[in-house]
Amino acid sequence: MIEGGCFCGAVRYQIDNALDHASACHCSRCRKTFGGASSAYAEIADGSKFSWVTGEDELTEHTSAQGWGIAFCRICGSTLCGMFDGKVHGVTLGTVDGDPGVQIEMHTFVGSKAPWDHIGGSAPQFKEGPPDSDASGVVK
Ligand SMILES: [Zn+2]
Ligand SMILES: [Zn+2]
Repeated sequence: MIEGGCFCGAVRYQIDNALDHASACHCSRCRKTFGGASSAYAEIADGSKFSWVTGEDELTEHTSAQGWGIAFCRICGSTLCGMFDGKVHGVTLGTVDGDPGVQIEMHTFVGSKAPWDHIGGSAPQFKEGPPDSDASGVVK
């Protein structure tokens, strides 16, 4: 069981049982969304179940022109999860309590990273999306 929540504690979620495909995207949209150098995001693994424990009514959703949405706590502003087709697609790794059981597997859109961003670690870096993605970086 993976648990997480926002900064103020109003919103809590749990995942039964795993995350998958953790990545950091350095594109300008993710920098705005996550308020940092990149996203730090992992998908709900196939066969795993995401559920809100508390505070679901404190969530606000924003959907981008590309069709991807985020949900964040309207009290403290923590970005908690990514939405796709009205469903939770994955969570922001910064909101997970403890060890999420995954590590960043790749850095994407490194070609448009912020000038102050210094990427460490040994995960592969892609100038744009990963090789099997479309133009917006969505892996098919
Ligand atoms: Zn909050
Ligand atoms: Zn991005």
